[in-house]
Amino acid sequence: MRSIPPARRRVLLAAAGLCLSAVLGAAHAAEPLKAVASFSILGDIVREVGGSDISLATLVGPDGDAHEYEPTPGDAKKLSAASVLFVNGLDFETWMSRLAKSSGFSGLTVVASKGVTPRKFAAHAGGHGHDDGDHDHDHDHDDDHDHDHDHGHHHGDADPHAWQNLANGVIYARNVAEGLAAADPARAQAYRQRAQAYIARLQALDASVRATFSAIPADRRKVVTSHDAFGYFGDAYGVAFIPAMGVSTDAEPSAGEVARIIEQVKRERVPAVFVENISSPRLVQQIARETGAKVGGTLYSDALSKPGQPGATYLEMFEWNVRQLAAALQP
Ligand SMILES: [Zn+2]
Repeated sequence: MRSIPPARRRVLLAAAGLCLSAVLGAAHAAEPLKAVASFSILGDIVREVGGSDISLATLVGPDGDAHEYEPTPGDAKKLSAASVLFVNGLDFETWMSRLAKSSGFSGLTVVASKGVTPRKFAAHAGGHGHDDGDHDHDHDHDDDHDHDHDHGHHHGDADPHAWQNLANGVIYARNVAEGLAAADPARAQAYRQRAQAYIARLQALDASVRATFSAIPADRRKVVTSHDAFGYFGDAYGVAFIPAMGVSTDAEPSAGEVARIIEQVKRERVPAVFVENISSPRLVQQIARETGAKVGGTLYSDALSKPGQPGATYLEMFEWNVRQLAAALQP
């Protein structure tokens, strides 16, 4: 280099720079779209629809509890690099808006549950939020509480666990496809085609789940679970879920509430209780001990299992849950 005059050197360096940016530009055209999903179940749906056209980061991973999540600096980094963010909505990810703001995320946010008919929380023995008074809303008016309920509790009036009905999973897949298409119009057709094939699988499973439960006598279709995550499942497939803990995973029921659940399990001859992959089994095991109901196993409620375990995808977790429930409820 010593023999090249400085002016000539600058020209050479500039040419090299041009070359480099031309290469980068070419690579950019085929680069996967950077997407982030808030939690593992939604992440799996995004992965199915996005295929190899996206590179996906999921924030709350397998067996993780998205109700009680503390975002990390790594999450902010993933988000700041992403073009599109997928969230459940229905006040599930109460930590997301702060994270998105602090990360400087400037891409498209897609609410996967958009268009779902929200289920309101029913009052039940294991009532939620009894300790903070935030839930004493007047329920005799029917307006859509769609204003921001961000005053310190963990959910709004709508039940966020909409993915527990496969018909809602179909809505999620459609919203994901349209979100990816909007963020990356050049590959819109690929996203829509993958979504269509995936939706056919969701619908086939939905039909088989309906058949499974309709073959079980209605008075046997009752179970106790840890937190109130299966309301949409219960409404869709005709199973009564009695949650021991209420809607979020942080509300410990009082001794009196536990006693009421135990009473109900005995009175209604509830055949089985289930633990969940995201919450402590202690309370459910206590209810089983004191009532003689059998412990039916583990259900995947708000998160997938780790790879290699039975609920590693949305479809697999659904099939697993149905198999466990049906086996425990069969007369
Ligand atoms: Zn939950």
